[in-house]
Amino acid sequence: MSADLRISGARLWDSLGETAQFGAIPGTDRGMCRLTLAEADIAVRRWFVDAAQAIGMTVTTDRLGSIFARRAGSDPDLAPIAIGSHLDTQPTGGRFDGILGVLAGLEVARTLHDAGIVTRHPIEVIDWTNEEGARFAPAMVASGVFAGVFSLDYALGQTDRDGVTLGEALAQSGFAGDEAPGDHPLAAHFELHIEQGPVLEAAGLDIGVVSGVQGIRWYDVVVKGQTCHAGTTPMALRRDALHGAARLAIAVDGIGRSEPGVSLSTIGLFQAYPGSRNTAPGEVRLTVDLRHPDVAGLDRMEAALGDAIAALERDLGLAVTLNPVWSSPPVEFDPGVIAAIAGATQRLGYSHRTMLSGAGHDSVYTARVAPTGMIFVPCENGISHNIAENITPAEAERGANVLLQAVLDYDRRNA
Ligand SMILES: [Zn+2]
Repeated sequence: MSADLRISGARLWDSLGETAQFGAIPGTDRGMCRLTLAEADIAVRRWFVDAAQAIGMTVTTDRLGSIFARRAGSDPDLAPIAIGSHLDTQPTGGRFDGILGVLAGLEVARTLHDAGIVTRHPIEVIDWTNEEGARFAPAMVASGVFAGVFSLDYALGQTDRDGVTLGEALAQSGFAGDEAPGDHPLAAHFELHIEQGPVLEAAGLDIGVVSGVQGIRWYDVVVKGQTCHAGTTPMALRRDALHGAARLAIAVDGIGRSEPGVSLSTIGLFQAYPGSRNTAPGEVRLTVDLRHPDVAGLDRMEAALGDAIAALERDLGLAVTLNPVWSSPPVEFDPGVIAAIAGATQRLGYSHRTMLSGAGHDSVYTARVAPTGMIFVPCENGISHNIAENITPAEAERGANVLLQAVLDYDRRNA
């Protein structure tokens, strides 16, 4: 019975350990540096292709080098159910971010292979190129082109620090395929990922059923007043940009606290000019990052930011400019995929909660072109993008079992 089928936690853990040799940072326990299409990435890609072909999967790549390893289904008219994530890492990253999702996909395929189970849909395990954005900006570029968010030429022309384009790196790697990204319907896209935050671990829960990804808006703010002498200018006559920016910082914090557990606000950069001990700053530059699960919430936060700025101008005589620099709309994952993941989690008896993703993933973009959902497993102290990133074998095993059972359930229910 396929409902009783389980992945091999030991084999999955072995694969995580074995592939960590490609890009392991010497002198660290688990640190990884596997930048997109650098030597280590090419090595792990070859390992993945060999492992997929060894169980009879057909491997293709698209023009951005994303790897599609397909296990045939019984109905030739059905598009594949994809299990995708990424094998590249940050320059000082860990061995689970993204990697768990791809290798768990391989483990699902190996489990089906061993059990002799043929699904109706093909199952396709995907390694999306350059998810991290560490070598080539922007992040999630290959899944973004796949979904029509960026053009292929834009992606191929992005350069690394040495001026090498993504297109040149692809040509050298041997992983540039013929297929235009996106020329490839997916019946669904499942992604298993470490949470990269502390929520599941703090709650002692096994699995996060991810309902979507919160929206993000970024702004640059410049507060302008008058630079003046610290000893000769009476307080009543000052237009101190730092005083105004400090008030704004308190207001921004309040905007994040306005909907507890939902809204988030951050000032990550804050610089006063000219930067002299005995001069009141005439200018402060700062950044604002607002996050909320829905557009109306982001609009409310943006309006509150505008009100706080207007108060500075009115009360303190300062001039403030607010420039939006980037935004990423909220993503709601597909109810059918979420139900398959939640149902599998329940049947497996794993503790869980529904949650949003605070970070971007390839699934943000695949959600535009295919029913998409994500599974989170806890990670130690919520740490990621760090050589200390860690999970337990049991956590990896539970996540991969949810992935297997959710994909099988989705395969049965959907035509
Ligand atoms: Zn990732």
